[in-house]
Amino acid sequence: MSKIVIAIDGPAGAGKSTVAKALAKELGLQYLDTGAMYRALALAASRAGLSENDGDKAAEIAKTLHIHFAEGAPPHVILNDEDVTTAIRTPEIGELASALSTHSGVRRELVKRQQAMVAEGGYTLEGRDVTTVVAPNADVKVYLTASLEERAKRRHVEMSEKGMETPEYDDLRRQMQTRDHRDITRDDSPLTVAEGATIIESGGLSIDEVVAKILELCEQGK
Ligand code: C5P
Repeated sequence: MSKIVIAIDGPAGAGKSTVAKALAKELGLQYLDTGAMYRALALAASRAGLSENDGDKAAEIAKTLHIHFAEGAPPHVILNDEDVTTAIRTPEIGELASALSTHSGVRRELVKRQQAMVAEGGYTLEGRDVTTVVAPNADVKVYLTASLEERAKRRHVEMSEKGMETPEYDDLRRQMQTRDHRDITRDDSPLTVAEGATIIESGGLSIDEVVAKILELCEQGK
């Protein structure tokens, strides 16, 4: 099973990264957080003084960036030799990543790199277009979701536990709703359930239970 590819899409806070990391550990796969790449680009764009509508300029910047992942739990995100693992997790960078990711030029550049990374197999990857665009031929495709309230609650606890700057629950829920809407309605690669993907509702399930369901799909070869 070492060359298997498991692709997981879904809205923010559905548990994609926790589940993908657990699967990677269980199956000895590499883990690719595609959202971290959009965030790294947003950080570079922000430092270059770009804002939400500067998609074309951001796409140019994307071509020049070196983004890679270094060993760590979770893996460290390295942008041009700088460890940006923490810097990319601020609400401002998340917001800019969400806006810039609607631009086709930006997506084209990052998707190309993501496809090159997983080409040899042996990956579990997660994002908003990995089952539809990055790895539509993945061995296992999952759409992981939960209600907005459940996801916002989960994200709120997670952020405060990590000591991150945490908005009020209601504000966080609204922000997540806005982002979901942008991801679902954008013209290029909108977040959707891919053909052949299995929908898993993570509400009420533990991480272990979600992981067990996906391991079952691996056994069944879907
Ligand atoms: O997953 P994460 O929240 O870190 O991703 C940041 C933003 O990047 C998301 O809000 C989403 O708009 C965008 N994204 C995307 N396609 C992906 C991964 C993330 O458009 N494959």
